[in-house]
Amino acid sequence: MSTLSEISKIVKSQAVQFGFDACGIARADYLGNRKNVLKSWLDKGYNASMNYMENHFEKRLNPQLLVESAKSVICVLTSYNSDARQSAAAPKIARYALGFDYHVIIRKKLNDFFVSLKKTFPQINGRGFVDSAPILEREWAVRAGLGWYGKSAAFISPVFGSFVFLSELIVDIEMEYDKPLKGNFCGACNKCIAGCPNSAITEPYVVNSQKCIAYQTIENRNEINIPSHGWLFGCDICLQVCPYNKCAKICNHEEFQPVAETLDMSFDDWENIGEDDFKKIFAKSPLMRAGYEKIKQNIKNIKR
Ligand code: SF4
Ligand code: SF4
Repeated sequence: MSTLSEISKIVKSQAVQFGFDACGIARADYLGNRKNVLKSWLDKGYNASMNYMENHFEKRLNPQLLVESAKSVICVLTSYNSDARQSAAAPKIARYALGFDYHVIIRKKLNDFFVSLKKTFPQINGRGFVDSAPILEREWAVRAGLGWYGKSAAFISPVFGSFVFLSELIVDIEMEYDKPLKGNFCGACNKCIAGCPNSAITEPYVVNSQKCIAYQTIENRNEINIPSHGWLFGCDICLQVCPYNKCAKICNHEEFQPVAETLDMSFDDWENIGEDDFKKIFAKSPLMRAGYEKIKQNIKNIKR
């Protein structure tokens, strides 16, 4: 019979074996501290056309509604930070979208990790989440001691910065829990707020999606109504200017290496690419989330 501390150690060691860069564990408590934050963000309409954010309000806060008898949230972090950069002539793409779709890669890793945990702890039940289902990933990662919220509202790890993917296993066995990191990590810094070209960060930790290039170039199905400042898909400005990302560990994980075309295609190449070629080249890319028509619209918008 393992102690709670031994269970946590085994879980964390297996997380590393399956290729995750960091693992922390939080108690599956009700996220009461996020209730008003989420409500106020929705009330202001900052979710723009992402109506799905209004659904499953209680599920976002209550892990017991996602996994019966939930006890623990195992948070795993994967860095996609790499040395690869786009050429100066290429319309800009958020760094996470330069390679293959992380959902597919991380879901496989998370499934394998869970299968392994089940072999070690046959009584364990639960469910994996990779940017799927209503779950407040950053909050769980903060509670699991993996990092904190920056004023940009992005999650920041002290080692890996913000160029990271978060995923979780909510399970029904108890473990030893990590503590959130303590400190005022942003201090007097304001670089992300000052650096956002559309003033989308309306106050520290709050982003109005209507003004955010990332939302406009990916999620918005209507005409873009803000300048996109050269961004074709997503936007990394508030991450790029953050001092924590300037010294973040570069992992260069092979599975997240860029598709060559995302680095080198020029503005003209994007303007001229046909739908068949787009679908062939970017079949496994996050750009498919926007789709061909949207990418074409984004190119036009850059030119405006
Ligand atoms: S992603 Fe870009 S537009 Fe959105 S808040 Fe950050 S800097 Fe502003
Ligand atoms: S840029 Fe400065 S204020 Fe913004 S998240 Fe980074 S440290 Fe915090």
